[in-house]
Amino acid sequence: MLSRFDYVRPQLLEEALAYLRQNTGTEILAGGTDLMIMLRRNAQMPGHVLDIKSIPETKRLEYKPGQGLFIGATVTVNQVAEADFIQKKYAALVQAANSLASYQLRNRATLVGNICNASPGADLAAPLLVYDAKVHIANSQGNRLVAINEFFTGVKKTVLQRGEMVLGVSLPDVTAGDVSIFLKQARIKGHDLGIVGVAARLAADKVCRIAMSAVAPTPIRLTKLEEVLNAQPLTAELAIWAGEEARKLIKPISDVRSSAEYRLHVSGVLVKRALTQLLDMGGK
Ligand SMILES: Cc1cc2nc3c(=O)[nH]c(=O)nc-3n(C[C@H](O)[C@H](O)[C@H](O)COP(=O)(O)OP(=O)(O)OC[C@H]3O[C@@H](n4cnc5c(N)ncnc54)[C@H](O)[C@@H]3O)c2cc1C
Repeated sequence: MLSRFDYVRPQLLEEALAYLRQNTGTEILAGGTDLMIMLRRNAQMPGHVLDIKSIPETKRLEYKPGQGLFIGATVTVNQVAEADFIQKKYAALVQAANSLASYQLRNRATLVGNICNASPGADLAAPLLVYDAKVHIANSQGNRLVAINEFFTGVKKTVLQRGEMVLGVSLPDVTAGDVSIFLKQARIKGHDLGIVGVAARLAADKVCRIAMSAVAPTPIRLTKLEEVLNAQPLTAELAIWAGEEARKLIKPISDVRSSAEYRLHVSGVLVKRALTQLLDMGGK
């Protein structure tokens, strides 16, 4: 049985932020696909649940040439996957969105809920990392911006403080020639977090970025690997080397989805495959 809590659904952002300030032990509810499971199991027993779905600012989904993309806190994963301006510019994000659970679940689940839940295997984190996304955070005193690579602090932990909520995520604009990819190995297609997720991007300026999920306590950028890759032109041989090297930079755990050994193996395969496919897309 669900434990008792107060449920509020404010229409105004100011009301929501005031409620968060006044009520400790408030959980924010977006799509609820993570939170409701925790509530049903009584794994979380908040005194207050703040539903943010009626707040107009959270519904913003907008692309502006030269400025980039903004995805509000209640924009669903299907809205991300289906927006033509995201499909044209941010391929890895669309591929990751399409890989999350099932179509029905994606109609509820939000991109922001995915990162706030801060699972090490969150599918949308790796693409946001390779696009250098920024997280827009608000409390009743004002707003702050946090780079996505500083947002996650541990398993299910983020920099969010009491009284704060995420308003949305912004991604810088990408120029023609920017290619990216997201690859995920899961136990079954759909309905499951990844055993390993890899996002790779070769920007128009030929800078390569690689991020992984489910191989560390938080989603991570492989910056040491990027440094080596970015010191020379990307080739098929270098992609093979990078796959081997990636395994040395991660320390995955064994869990219900996979053994650590299998994760290590698959990580190398996916990094090599992602870079090879970027090359095939004409990346360098
Ligand atoms: C059957 C099933 C399959 C799944 N498969 C996948 C999968 O393949 N890949 C994957 O990555 N995930 C998967 N998930 C997990 C989940 O669907 C995603 O993480 C989803 O994106 C969460 O979004 P939500 O809007 O439902 O979040 P919610 O459940 O509403 O919230 C999640 C957490 O974030 C907090 N939160 C939400 N919005 C904000 C905000 N604006 N500010 C601050 N905190 C906030 C909430 O308080 C809560 O702690 C699956 C879940 C289920 C039930």
